[in-house]
Amino acid sequence: MNLLDLDFDELALTLDLSPSYRVKQLYSGLQAGLKIQEISALPLALRQELGEKYTVGVEIIEKLVSVDGSMKLLYRLDDGNIIEGVFMPHDYGSTLCVSTQVGCRMGCAFCASGIGGLVRNLTSGEMLGQVLSVNRLKGGPLERNITNLVLMGSGEPLDNYDNVVKFLRLVSSEDGINISRRNISLSTCGLTDRIRQLADDGLGVTLSISLHATTDEIRRQLMPIANKYSISEVVDAAKYYFNKTGRRIIYEYSMIKGKNIDYFDVKRLKEITKGYPSHINLIMLNPVKEKHLEGCTKSEAERFLGRLHAEKISATIRKSFGSDIMGACGQLRRSYLDSKKE
Ligand code: SAH
Repeated sequence: MNLLDLDFDELALTLDLSPSYRVKQLYSGLQAGLKIQEISALPLALRQELGEKYTVGVEIIEKLVSVDGSMKLLYRLDDGNIIEGVFMPHDYGSTLCVSTQVGCRMGCAFCASGIGGLVRNLTSGEMLGQVLSVNRLKGGPLERNITNLVLMGSGEPLDNYDNVVKFLRLVSSEDGINISRRNISLSTCGLTDRIRQLADDGLGVTLSISLHATTDEIRRQLMPIANKYSISEVVDAAKYYFNKTGRRIIYEYSMIKGKNIDYFDVKRLKEITKGYPSHINLIMLNPVKEKHLEGCTKSEAERFLGRLHAEKISATIRKSFGSDIMGACGQLRRSYLDSKKE
């Protein structure tokens, strides 16, 4: 059992330690990213006893540091599964990209995480463990604790709803590492019922929606989920989210040659973003070996951005990190799995 799956009260109830301040010592040790055996405030015998029964779920097994200061991480889970993450430093703090599932069942045409389908959901503690194990690198490659999170690693967060919501509560809890929910972005391919549920549950995170197309026909070619929900249904859910939370909607838009960067796309984006605050994050396509889609050039991207601005649509091109260390989504895990096959 992974102790990070438990909040403070659950930990106290489950372990029933005496004296009771031991729970506090254990909890703060865990929140500092320590393994059970390393929590020196606890007596050795207790550490051994707990260590035999419990784990902390996640261990960093590889880290690649880029010239730009970003880091790509491979984590091993208790059952041997491998997931990956990206750490990105900024002037105002730093962001960790968190995975929510091993693999993914959404099958988007450009994404490496879905190759091989969904293996399993991550637990809330396995998501928290990613953040704590990277914070632990502080003093090494990390200057200070992570301030921002994006749920943009492998997996579809809203396809693992309950665990993701528990993780959001754990990671933003005042007696934990207390990352502000305003600094957390949840990215979804657009599961509309769940977007409404997230709004109703009042989590207050920023919602990013992977749009990637302006017509249902093109979106269906890129994202199987578009067979279930039309763009207008996704936009309705986005407006619902804004109305409930007051948070502007971020649309993610990976630019793909011949698919989505036409003049008419600009016109349709104008319609899609009309009447509520939103922002478009343009993404340079990361080429994935197994996929056969082509990105656009820098100058095509800039022309598209200029046309959006001319229509007064809020948009930026997302800064790309770690191109020297396999920046593309799911690339590092795939190359790790391939190397194990040989
Ligand atoms: N399942 C979530 C999180 C996915 S990863 C979602 O669909 O939003 C975060 C973003 O990266 C998504 O917008 C996703 O569509 C995009 N993405 C995935 N693979 C990509 C690639 N090879 N190039 C560019 N963007 C990619």
